[in-house]
Amino acid sequence: MIHRRKGLPDDWERIAADHLGAWGGFRSDEQERLGDLADWLLRHKNWEAANGFALDDAILTTIAIEAALLIFSLSTDYYREVSAIIVYPTTILSRGTYAGPVPGTVTDSVLPVLGEAHDRRGAMLIAWDEALAAARNPGRGHNVVFHEFAHKLDMLDDITDGTPPLESKEALARWVEVCTNAYTALREGIPRPPLDPYGGVSPAEFFAVATENFFDAPLALEEHEPDLFAVLRDFYKQDPADRARHSSR
Ligand SMILES: [Zn+2]
Repeated sequence: MIHRRKGLPDDWERIAADHLGAWGGFRSDEQERLGDLADWLLRHKNWEAANGFALDDAILTTIAIEAALLIFSLSTDYYREVSAIIVYPTTILSRGTYAGPVPGTVTDSVLPVLGEAHDRRGAMLIAWDEALAAARNPGRGHNVVFHEFAHKLDMLDDITDGTPPLESKEALARWVEVCTNAYTALREGIPRPPLDPYGGVSPAEFFAVATENFFDAPLALEEHEPDLFAVLRDFYKQDPADRARHSSR
């Protein structure tokens, strides 16, 4: 069922405050910017419910605001690969070939996945129960909305390789150096908290996992992976750790 394209509901700020644990950490001008971007996303992308499920204002508002955070300092053009967002009530059972639980292995069994971002202009799948739990309880470094929308940023340069478009050769070289270091460790089974070991599955998953931590657990990422935090801060052009420090004062 395709949601008719209308923007944020009138009571979107109340919904945001009720559903997003991090909402109070944003200044009012930042909340306004997130609202503008979320409104744009709701009007310009196809928001759909899985069969037997229905979208409501809380679902649309919560997911759109979280998606908006990634492009807070960029532009809506960064989501040009986003076409449809399909929301499922709960974990999606998906059959296909996936990276296995052990790095370097694959499995073709039916696996529960929290979300998927299909290549290029393909649909994105989001499990609402997972999205809501993460939105309500930030700080654990897990957020399926940040994860899937990061994949769409990765796809901007046509290759899903864990590298979104960067501004200069120098920035790209630094990005590759820093990300390869942490990715290689995860791939070899060396823990790099707060990064989830799932980031060792592929460079694309590494970028998505790193993005989850950057926005959802920025202080931990900055402390334990300062170089990674810095390249993400330069790409996203914002500093969630600085925001978290100010909001906890
Ligand atoms: Zn992923």
